[in-house]
Amino acid sequence: MKCHYCEEGETRVVDTRERKDKIKRRRECKNCGKRFTTYETVESINTKVEKDRGDIEKFKEDKIRAGLKKAVQKTPVTSDDIEEIVEEVKAQIKQKEKVSSKHIGDIVKSELRSRNKVAYIRFASVYDSFEDVEMFQKEVEALKE
Ligand SMILES: [Zn+2]
Repeated sequence: MKCHYCEEGETRVVDTRERKDKIKRRRECKNCGKRFTTYETVESINTKVEKDRGDIEKFKEDKIRAGLKKAVQKTPVTSDDIEEIVEEVKAQIKQKEKVSSKHIGDIVKSELRSRNKVAYIRFASVYDSFEDVEMFQKEVEALKE
């Protein structure tokens, strides 16, 4: 998003708050450094998420955001990246009636993987399932090199 003040600089998101049907974002201009707030209407996603044990719950993007925030600590992955990843997940699932939590995890993992290996591995270790163990070990080995 372009800066409201200088109309030149790209902005970065410094804070995101989710309200009932709105998202409030605090943005900072990379050019002039000024901050401003934007509000976005939340596009309601009615996709249901099926968990590993068969429980079904409503899709909540804050859950993904919270998981990502933990995974990216002390990595170069920014809050802008996190928002991009959340948007990507929403774009991929919004037309579907039901998705598995594993499917959501896979989208997040592939997005993280292209950005930062440490963040990817941390996130994967939470979402890990047996079939991923081999790939997971390969990634850990690759980090040591
Ligand atoms: Zn500016």
